[in-house]
Amino acid sequence: MNVLLTGGAGYIGSHIVRALQDAGQECVVYDNLCKGNAEAVPECELVVADVADGEALQNAFREHDIEAVIHLAAYIEAGESVEKPDKYFHNNTRIGLTLLDAMRECNVGKIVFSSTAAVYGTPERVPIEETDRLEPINPYGASKLCVEYMLRAYATAYNLGVVSLRYFNVAGAHPDGDIGEAHTPETHLIPLILQVPLGKRENIKIFGQDYGTPDGTCIRDYIHVCDLADAHVLALGATTPGEVKAYNLGNGEGFSVREVIETCRLVTEAPIPAEETPRRPGDPARLVAASQKAITELKWQPNFPELATIVAHAWEWHKNHPNGYET
Ligand code: UDP
Repeated sequence: MNVLLTGGAGYIGSHIVRALQDAGQECVVYDNLCKGNAEAVPECELVVADVADGEALQNAFREHDIEAVIHLAAYIEAGESVEKPDKYFHNNTRIGLTLLDAMRECNVGKIVFSSTAAVYGTPERVPIEETDRLEPINPYGASKLCVEYMLRAYATAYNLGVVSLRYFNVAGAHPDGDIGEAHTPETHLIPLILQVPLGKRENIKIFGQDYGTPDGTCIRDYIHVCDLADAHVLALGATTPGEVKAYNLGNGEGFSVREVIETCRLVTEAPIPAEETPRRPGDPARLVAASQKAITELKWQPNFPELATIVAHAWEWHKNHPNGYET
């Protein structure tokens, strides 16, 4: 299958490209490189263009005979989205519509959408099931949920085959050691913690200590980026014309911010001082996935479910690439 990945030169995209190539699929990365790195996808055709440019999208679909899209291009910082919702609705929601229209124009009938646990907002219960209430508490989650709604409407009206994958907290790096996480600025917990033993920051800030959790800090479900990538390969095979499927992707176990810091201390054998600071706006207390649906229906099987392994792979990458893809 010829697959185009919007945002394919990013952290998650580059790992999906690797998984697709390992599965013998042809892929094309479509990325404006505002966040992505060409070095992350060295053996893949790269179209440098914006998803907002519907004409460039159509050209790429036709030129490469694209049959399916994995749509990853998006801004991803929940905290920032509270301050700048315009940026999120323009870049995440509006370009989603541009993409769907270009797909329709070129008869591209399958899409796997990079959605997020943030569509659930503050869950009524954990672990969260796919059928639970969708009520995002930050514009990032809302901008992604809008795309899920558009996908549903396009599936019904235009026979599109849709799989939405709702990611929980993605972390780790490829065990081969040559691709990994490189965000500028970095905002995610695990890479920020690892910057302390790398000498790039003095301490890690704990955002909020008064959540209703056992140690007062937020609980998240961490998933290895390679396991997440494998789910995309399976999801491509699970699209059905006119149908929408949604799957949570996590490991079903929650870790508090303090527990994640402790795991990083064990893996790196470094002290890693922590500083208690106020809450970050837009953070739900607890997000843990029920991923049984992906395991049953997609036959998804995580290879690296342990938090210590996820952190160890991330640490290998960051130790050897302290400046990401910059040499
Ligand atoms: N977090 C923190 N300090 C940091 C970065 C993140 O305490 O420097 C917390 C954040 O408030 C959240 C958790 O770590 O509860 C995971 O945050 P991240 O940004 O990695 O992912 P998110 O859950 O927002 O997608």
